[in-house]
Amino acid sequence: MKIEKDRVVRFHYTVSEVGQEPIESSKDRDPLVILFGHGNIIPGLENAMLDKRAGENFGVDVKAAEAYGEYREGLGQRVPKKHFGTAKLAPGMQVVLQTNFGPRAVTVQKVGMSVVDVDLNHPMAGKDLHFDVEIVEVREANPEEIEHGHVHGDGGHHH
Ligand code: ZN
Repeated sequence: MKIEKDRVVRFHYTVSEVGQEPIESSKDRDPLVILFGHGNIIPGLENAMLDKRAGENFGVDVKAAEAYGEYREGLGQRVPKKHFGTAKLAPGMQVVLQTNFGPRAVTVQKVGMSVVDVDLNHPMAGKDLHFDVEIVEVREANPEEIEHGHVHGDGGHHH
């Protein structure tokens, strides 16, 4: 069965900045499971997966614009320290912050007495990425999954 819209894809991935050591891999845990064609993964990776089948391995370079977006200036923000809970903060650290746009990964730039300067760019913004992908399983999604826009059951949402 080929990968196309409204199918469920289970896959392993390893991601690196182009030409560098891997940043992250799913190989040390369970594969990722997504409903394909619903924007659940970055566009460049979704495009590269189209028409692949279970058992296939491939590598793909994804430009920043098709990954986590270009790095944008002017996304620095000063946030009251209380929003960070009890976490011990240090410059360069990545934390998830509740914002008006939902949870967002930010990078700590400077820690003051009562405020913290953060960069709202995604940590991988502006980076061209390389993915090595192994397709583990492809199956039809059920109507409820398509309606919700995500996978249910093993590796998916439970609700
Ligand atoms: Zn659901």
